[in-house]
Amino acid sequence: MPALAGRLKDIAVSASVVMGVRARALAAEGHKVISLASGEPDFATPDHAIEAAHQAALKGDTKYPPTDGTPALKKAVQMKFRRDNGLDYALDEILVANGGKQIIMDALLATCDPGDEVLIPAPYWVSYADMAKLATGTPTFVSCPQNNGFKLRPEDLEAAITPRTKWLILNFPNNPTGAACSRAEMQAIAEVLLRHPHVWIMTDDMYEHLVYDGLEFCTIAEVEPRLKERVLTVNGTSKTYAMTGWRVGFAGGPKTLIKAMANMQGQLTSGISTISQAAAVAALEGPQDLIAERAAIYRERRDLVCGLLAEAPGLSCHKPEGAFYVYPNIAGCLGKSSKGGRAIGNDTDFALALLEEKHVATVQGAAYGMSPYIRVSYATDTESLREACRRIVEFCRELS
Ligand code: PLP
Repeated sequence: MPALAGRLKDIAVSASVVMGVRARALAAEGHKVISLASGEPDFATPDHAIEAAHQAALKGDTKYPPTDGTPALKKAVQMKFRRDNGLDYALDEILVANGGKQIIMDALLATCDPGDEVLIPAPYWVSYADMAKLATGTPTFVSCPQNNGFKLRPEDLEAAITPRTKWLILNFPNNPTGAACSRAEMQAIAEVLLRHPHVWIMTDDMYEHLVYDGLEFCTIAEVEPRLKERVLTVNGTSKTYAMTGWRVGFAGGPKTLIKAMANMQGQLTSGISTISQAAAVAALEGPQDLIAERAAIYRERRDLVCGLLAEAPGLSCHKPEGAFYVYPNIAGCLGKSSKGGRAIGNDTDFALALLEEKHVATVQGAAYGMSPYIRVSYATDTESLREACRRIVEFCRELS
């Protein structure tokens, strides 16, 4: 067989995908598997978005779209940034892509040269590091330890920036920890970045509407307008409107960067599905009450899961401010063996044994750059969450 590309050797298959595959295999064998591994809302796409897609298809909105997004969606995104974030972007400062994921890849491809460092606060969403490598950059990490609520400390950020740092990627509320930043905390991060004008700042605000306990979401370009000319504000419809399958992401940023990103995208995929863009317009411009209603449900689930997992010996669960994940520490379970005889030497062993023996899928913290933890997604119904937590508690009680 002819050879595959060398760049593949650095690219990992996402651990949540691996867990999902094993979970489906166990389910196919007849086991009652509960998956807390996926980062996907269990709610439905709003009806008005589906209807808008239907109408767009019927009226012949089915031709190649402009690469950077349809005028209607770009206007809706412009309005969204004003309404939700107090940010003003001109239409040529906005790009639409195939999910937030493609926005991030477009940005890295458009800016990274070999040796450029992409600074990623850890724990981090699995894809950032692999995408940086694909774009010939070098991922570097700055630790956000649990004793600081998994948030980025200004002094740690300062120490991690080098002359080769090309990007800092911010993601609060965070996947996998759920940590979110207050305005004062974001301002402190901004102070550091003001001192390093060679660094681009990407803020992945995918979970902006999922913040709890009175915390107000803020985004760095609005918190510190002096940084706006080097900030890329990334967002999308996947998590907010339960539209993961429609693949709509967007960003606001400086015109030169947006144009370079659109050029990259023009050769990769061109513009995104016209039908999805019509649905996204309806989601952004339609009734927004759904967002708060769903956030209230997620908050109840977070409280439920944190409460139930507190009963699990060896596991300690930090209560996060946002997103739909908790990131329990499993240090107290290490060095033990499961009831089925599996040695628990690290968080991968823990997640695999939990899946094989109790049929609950989670993802090991190693995949997100901080161990020993597991990521538990509570984007699933209450009954499944109760049963899954019961099994996790039982699994921990049976360790010896
Ligand atoms: N950013 C974060 C932090 C995510 O968790 C995800 C999805 O899991 C994405 C981006 C990708 O979102 P999209 O579906 O818009 O590509």
